[in-house]
Amino acid sequence: MERLFRLAAKCIQHFPRRTRTDMALSMLGWLPAIAEIDKRKLNFLQKLCTMPSNLLTRKKFNFRLHLYANRQFSGQSGYIPDVCRILRKYNLFHIVESYLQTAIFLDKLQWKRTVFNAIRKYHTQHWSERMNSDDDFVRFKTLHTDISPSILWRNSDSLNSIKHALCTAKVLVEAKQSGVKTCKKCGSQTSDLNLHVISKCISLKKTRTTFLNSVEKQYSCELSNFLKGCNSETFLRTILNPRALDIYDIVEFLQKDFIQSAYTHMPKKIVISGDNISNVTK
Ligand SMILES: [Zn+2]
Repeated sequence: MERLFRLAAKCIQHFPRRTRTDMALSMLGWLPAIAEIDKRKLNFLQKLCTMPSNLLTRKKFNFRLHLYANRQFSGQSGYIPDVCRILRKYNLFHIVESYLQTAIFLDKLQWKRTVFNAIRKYHTQHWSERMNSDDDFVRFKTLHTDISPSILWRNSDSLNSIKHALCTAKVLVEAKQSGVKTCKKCGSQTSDLNLHVISKCISLKKTRTTFLNSVEKQYSCELSNFLKGCNSETFLRTILNPRALDIYDIVEFLQKDFIQSAYTHMPKKIVISGDNISNVTK
């Protein structure tokens, strides 16, 4: 199920199958499928612990839970040990310990909020650790910093903007490339084809200049000068990450307009010229 879930996340965003799962899921704001399964098991626990105490189901659950606790939380199989394991995983076990003492449990809303926060915290922490320990995420983690729907998807409200967002996202999630590649447009040798095509390729200089001129004319001279003067990596990251534009205090609609403009001027032509990226704009 987890594998199918991951595959669905990649298919939805038109990513290749080899795309890192942490990238594909986080760009949609999705946690792993196990998070949803755990959440439902925990919500069921709240139902069991708050149903009327004269019901046989509650009585039987309480009996088995106390039996399990008296046996030092061992010697049982099924739902109770499973949910106890999940509670420990998310640092929520103290709530069951409290229930064993008092027979009182959180109400539905409180419990849902507690579970939501605990699950999110756990998975975000593990996601961040993987981001910081793997070279594949070096560029990605500076451009997509948390598990929430990517601004690329949030700003795409027309077919055209979706096409450009798909191109940009594919560059964003491209894994670290090994070996030297040749740019088919200018013949240069490069170890990072995306960086070369977007920031350096001589044969796209005219396209790049047109884009920078349009930025200067329509939006911000300061932004244009920044893009002209920065190094190739910063140029690439600024183009791929609209959040970087926050420093220019451009109001939201202009910022969005700029992003659309950037897609129109840059990635579309670059994607067509880069053989490493499938051509979704055709
Ligand atoms: Zn080139």
